[in-house]
Amino acid sequence: MPRLGILGWPVSHSRSPAMHGAAFEALHMPGWRYQRLPVPPALFAETTRALAGAGFLGANVTIPHKQVALSLADTASAAARAIGAANTLTFDPAGGISADNTDAPGLVAALGRSPAGQTAMVLGAGGSARAAVWALLAAGAREVSVWNRTPERARAMARELGARVVDKPVPAWMLVNCTSVGLSNASNDADPLKLLGLSLDDLRGYSYVVDLVYRQEMTRLLTLAQRQGAQVVDGLEVLVCQGALAFERWTGRSAPVQAMRRGAAGPAETERGHP
Ligand code: NAP
Repeated sequence: MPRLGILGWPVSHSRSPAMHGAAFEALHMPGWRYQRLPVPPALFAETTRALAGAGFLGANVTIPHKQVALSLADTASAAARAIGAANTLTFDPAGGISADNTDAPGLVAALGRSPAGQTAMVLGAGGSARAAVWALLAAGAREVSVWNRTPERARAMARELGARVVDKPVPAWMLVNCTSVGLSNASNDADPLKLLGLSLDDLRGYSYVVDLVYRQEMTRLLTLAQRQGAQVVDGLEVLVCQGALAFERWTGRSAPVQAMRRGAAGPAETERGHP
């Protein structure tokens, strides 16, 4: 029975098992199984190396393991190396591990339009911000600006990836929230704009607003952006697009994206957060 899973700590909130389960069902792959793999950091390397022997073809990786996942791999894609993190591992029967980062192309796919020649304002300087900045520049964005609550982190990331740092978010074609603001009820109900250095008026400066955070309902940032006239893309769509790319790498089959959307959006078991 081919096995897949998601390594994280915690991982109970993950929508990936439901999303991939829906894909197996849609493509009539009854023997396939995708499961949660809750693994604490101290056991990550040992557990991951043992997965191939236990019948796993691959695994997704989420917080807090994405950087260590890359360091464990024998081979890695250019995207994973440049971003410094892997969210998709593939195991060969001899025990070799190859690493990829489908968060980056997944974000571009979720946009549904090319960012080539456009400007982008990325909020955050954590793992997903690194993937977003790299993805947008690799897809031909003209300029990517970065703002982060802790400016030193933004400066270090921008220097490394070729973005520019700003003291406060500036107008751009697209705004991408790569912070965890909006994930908890506290930061979603409070003023998420304030936490992100934005005002309601500022939202008029963006044609598209993407929020990587995903919840059962739309995040407050997206609700406000939509009211201000922006087109919005939610974190669930980004999740589905990165998951579809991982599915295709592991199975060699075209991902049934509609079924995966339905699976990912299914009833929430708990508050959503990470892939
Ligand atoms: P991370 O590496 O932990 O980075 C968190 C970022 O959020 C940092 O830039 C941090 O700023 C900022 N932040 C946290 N609390 C804040 C606050 N109260 N005010 C302002 N900024 C704050 O996390 P990540 O992996 O990049 O993930 C970020 C979010 O994206 C999470 O909600 C995650 O669930 C989501 N995500 C979604 C997908 C998807 O497929 N939809 C994929 C990946 C991630 P400091 O540097 O100042 O701490």
